[in-house]
Amino acid sequence: MKPCQSDETRSTCPYCGVGCGVLLKPDGQGGLVVRGDPNHPANFGRLCSKGSALGETVGLGDRLLAPQLNGTDTDWDTALDLVAQKFTDTIAKHGPDSAAFYVSGQLLSEDYYVANKLMKGFIGSANIDTNSRLCMASTVAGHKRAFGTDTVPGTYEDLETADQIVLVGSNLAWCHPVLYQRIVAARDKNPNLKIIVIDPRRTASCDLADLHLPLRVGTDVALFNGLLGEISARGAIDHQYLNHVNGAQAAIEAAQADDVSVTGLEASALTQFYDMWIGTPKTVTVFSQGVNQSSSGADKVNAILNCHLVTGRIGTKGCGPFSVTGQPNAMGGREVGGLANMLACHLDIENPDHHAAVSSFWQTDRLSPKLGLKAVDMFQAVGDGRIKALWIIHTNPAVSMPDADKVVAAMKSCDFVVVSDITAATDTARLADVLLPASAWGEKDGTVTNSDRTISRQRAAMVAPEQARPDWDILADVGRRMGDKMGWGSAFDFGTPADIFREYAQMSRLGTTFGKDFDISALGDIDNDAYDTLEPQRWPITDTRQGGRFFADGKFFTPDGKARMLPLAYRAPAAKTGKRYPFRLNTGRIRDQWHTMTRTALSSRLSAHLAEPFLEIHPEDAQAMGLEHSMLAQVKSPVGSGIFRALITDRVTRGDVFAPMHWTGETAPCARVDALVPPVVDPVSGQPESKAAVVQVTPF
Ligand code: SF4
Repeated sequence: MKPCQSDETRSTCPYCGVGCGVLLKPDGQGGLVVRGDPNHPANFGRLCSKGSALGETVGLGDRLLAPQLNGTDTDWDTALDLVAQKFTDTIAKHGPDSAAFYVSGQLLSEDYYVANKLMKGFIGSANIDTNSRLCMASTVAGHKRAFGTDTVPGTYEDLETADQIVLVGSNLAWCHPVLYQRIVAARDKNPNLKIIVIDPRRTASCDLADLHLPLRVGTDVALFNGLLGEISARGAIDHQYLNHVNGAQAAIEAAQADDVSVTGLEASALTQFYDMWIGTPKTVTVFSQGVNQSSSGADKVNAILNCHLVTGRIGTKGCGPFSVTGQPNAMGGREVGGLANMLACHLDIENPDHHAAVSSFWQTDRLSPKLGLKAVDMFQAVGDGRIKALWIIHTNPAVSMPDADKVVAAMKSCDFVVVSDITAATDTARLADVLLPASAWGEKDGTVTNSDRTISRQRAAMVAPEQARPDWDILADVGRRMGDKMGWGSAFDFGTPADIFREYAQMSRLGTTFGKDFDISALGDIDNDAYDTLEPQRWPITDTRQGGRFFADGKFFTPDGKARMLPLAYRAPAAKTGKRYPFRLNTGRIRDQWHTMTRTALSSRLSAHLAEPFLEIHPEDAQAMGLEHSMLAQVKSPVGSGIFRALITDRVTRGDVFAPMHWTGETAPCARVDALVPPVVDPVSGQPESKAAVVQVTPF
């Protein structure tokens, strides 16, 4: 594979949390030639279908090229003066919590940091949440409960050195394809590598599986409680490692009291799973949205972590629990405080010492003293008028939030809605009072952090068109305009992304003072040239340490330094199937589309994979209602309805149906799947239950 050429720019893919490195070269016709970066540690030159089609998606067809007020082009000064004035007036009249930002795991860490600093530090509310809430908030909560911090213990290399990989609620083959390719390559080298897939649906990832457990939707806690009980019954506990763990006895007793039969799995399949898991010390358990997007998501995460902690399978090569993130910078957002319940550098809003230290660091007396509203609650507050000024950045909640029709109504009723995006052609952008043209991937500079904590640069290989500007620059400009009137404008005197990176790298020193894990202090004084040439590297990045695994020393980030096992009990999904709504609706990604298709739909090659929205339904269920292949099916839930092409397949079990999440009011107005999903959330993490709505299905 050719190394990077002098006319190529090193950057990272803007899609999933694998965080693949890409090499970009202008094609001379306004586009880009894209290939995998052979020197990037996430992908070593590999790309998936989406990454390799990136060059086909950078045209200006639908680009937003100038700020708009109520659909009419204007200039930046007029637009940003209005945004600053409206937010200033709103918080003066109704208080800081009448304002909110809803941002995205697509933002670069520098963008995220400025948004977080402006809302929490100076507007004075923690009402900033992100679409990452829909992606991995349950993992954040689970990590914090077990480890004391939101720490991913392992690395991608663990997947290649394991003897067994368990995929839980994770269709890696389609959703994190380059990691899947790495596992396929590892299996070619080590034919003894075993793969177990735990998923109600027989996904593409099952092609590689030695064992597929099609458990009932939402029963993961019962399954891992069954495993924990069996670990104990077979004497497979690592008693020496339990010196580093609290709560083992209570967790085991709770597990033994739980009923694994709710999984619907046959006893022989359970025994095979227990044999394989317990008998293979070098096991990595990978989990993603099938675990997280649940009203018991945090408990599911902790049920997995319990099994790794009780066997000491954490912190060493080739084993450990491993959360893979959906978005390119879900991790970076967690690091710089993009969620409503955290401060930057993994510090805690409600901890008075952390609050005082961050106030001093930012030189503000306005830092929010309390948690903000999480995504679902935030849009409910927009709908009932508590939030009166809303800024949405690089995300499309009119399609992607649960109960999406209500979210649209909430935005329509809001006094003032600002949307920053690269296009005006989204369901959300159409609801904006002010539209701000942002720079797109390929045009902007900053950093992202992938699922194994590797920080990589995204770099510009093209000039942003017309009036488009980077998000950090737009946010800092509004911060200065508001601050000039309120006395804190200099807090946003950032001239480059490197200025911002240095600030939060320095801030990470505060985190370590309080025993936090996120530490990139060695980069706190990085100069602009070094930032420009920054190589991908895994945090922590200190003067004495770079990267590696966490918890190899058995020390955790809790007050007593011990991990915590939690006593858990299975809870059923919030909605119950019954006569009126007999089916359980699972939702997810398809291989060649990304989120609400604003970029991937620009590639005809990607759109050809699966060209229209569909509903997978079991042959016997279809036959019972007279539904034939390719007929249209009407799907109704208690909150919405949609029409989908029937795809009759035994990939789903009887009683379950599956529909992809990508289609929008723009591309398929009748098939916005999140209009069917109720706004039910995990009480611990606030993450919506996107995979367990109840629906009725009839031929249309
Ligand atoms: Fe991009 Fe993810 Fe594909 Fe890598 S695996 S090329 S990060 S979409």
